[in-house]
Amino acid sequence: MCGRKANLGCGIFALAALLLAAPASFAADARDIHERILTLDSHMDTPMNFARPGWDMMDAHTFAGDLSQIDYPRMVKGGLDGGFFTIYTPQGPRTQEGFAAARDAAIRRAGEIREMVARHSDTFALALRADDAGLIAASGKRIVYMSMENGYPIGKDLTLLKTFYELGVRMAGPVHFTNNDLGDSATDPKGPEWHGLSALGKQFVAEANRLGIVLDASHASDDVFDQMVALSTAPIILSHSGAKAVFNHPRNIDDARIMRLAAAGGVIQINSYSDYLVETPNIPARDAAIRALGMKYGPFRALAGERLNAYMAERHAIEAQYPLPKGSIDDVMAHLLHALKLVGADHVGIGLDWDGGGGVTGMEDVAGIPEISRRLLAAGYTEADLAKIWGGNALRVMRQVDAKAAEYARK
Ligand SMILES: [Zn+2]
Repeated sequence: MCGRKANLGCGIFALAALLLAAPASFAADARDIHERILTLDSHMDTPMNFARPGWDMMDAHTFAGDLSQIDYPRMVKGGLDGGFFTIYTPQGPRTQEGFAAARDAAIRRAGEIREMVARHSDTFALALRADDAGLIAASGKRIVYMSMENGYPIGKDLTLLKTFYELGVRMAGPVHFTNNDLGDSATDPKGPEWHGLSALGKQFVAEANRLGIVLDASHASDDVFDQMVALSTAPIILSHSGAKAVFNHPRNIDDARIMRLAAAGGVIQINSYSDYLVETPNIPARDAAIRALGMKYGPFRALAGERLNAYMAERHAIEAQYPLPKGSIDDVMAHLLHALKLVGADHVGIGLDWDGGGGVTGMEDVAGIPEISRRLLAAGYTEADLAKIWGGNALRVMRQVDAKAAEYARK
C-alpha cells in the first residue's frame, strides 16, 4: 500500500500496476467502442446455415459443435452490428443447365436471407442503403446487407443482376475459385482465360455501376482487379482479402494495387482465412478422409441431432490425425496493420470470411472480434479510426456507388 510518504519502491509498484493494467483497459475500451460505433463485417457466409435443419440464428451454437461461427448470441458477445451476408454459389459447369441451377440456388439463398430477417424481424432488419445501417442500429436491431460471392448465377444473362439487386443485393464479385464467363479467378489452376474480364464481365461492371451495386474484387485475378478499378465509375472494394507483402498467396494483393485501390477511393477489408495467412500443406490423406466422411454422411449442413454429433466426432478425429497449421490472430493483425500503414485508416476495413473458412487461433468465431479492436487501440489507433475500419469506410464506398447510380438514373 502506498501512503503519503511515497518511496521509490512504491513508484515502481505504481508504474508496474499501470503497465499491467494497460491491456485490460484496452480490452474494456474495445468492447465499449463496439457498442458506440457501427461494427460491420463485409463478408459472412452465414446464409449457408439458414436452411440447416433445426438451426436457428437466435440460438447459441459453437464452432466445435456444428462448424458455425455466427449467430445472434455470438454477435452480441462480439459486439457485431451486422454486415454483408453473402449469397455464395460454388463455381459449376458453364452450361445452360449449370447456369439455370446456379441462378435458382442463388435466388433460393436470397429468399432464405429474407426469411431469416422476416422470422426475427424484432432483431434483424434488411439494409438496402448506406444510411440504413445507422437507422437499424439505432432501432436496436442488427443489420443485414446482402452480397453475392461469384457472379456465376448470372450466367450470360446480365438482366439477372437487376433481379438480384431487387432481391436486395448491394455488393457483388464476378468470380470465385475458378474462371467463369465474367472473368478470371486469382486461383484457377488452369491460369488466365480472358486475361482479366471477359466482354460480358466488362458489361457486368457497367451494369453494377448503373444499378448501385458495390463491385467486389476479392477472388478475382490481378488483371480483373486492374480492369475493375479502371472501368468502374465508383470506388470498388475487396470484401475479404489480405496483403501479398505479408503472405505471398494469389488471393492476397500487392502493395501497389492496394495503393491504387485507395487512390480510387476503395477499401481493402482484411480476411481471416487461414490458408491465405500461413503456409498450408496439401495433405491428400486428410482430403481423402474428409471426402469419405462426406460420402458417408452427405452434406454436413443437412445433418442434425445425433447424426450431426457423430459426423463432428469423426471429423474432429480426422483433423487430429492430420493436423494442419492454423493462422492466428497475430497473422490477421499483421495484414491489417500492414494495410493501415500503407494506405491509412480511410481505406482499410474488416471482412473475416465467417462461415466460409475464416477464423483463426485466438478468434475462432465472431465472439472473438473485440480482440482486433483491443490490438488496434494498443497500436495507437483511435475510436474514430476504429469507426472507419469497422464499417465507416465500407459504407462510404456504398454511398459513393449509390450517388453514381442516382446520377445514371437522372440521365
Ligand atoms: Zn471467399
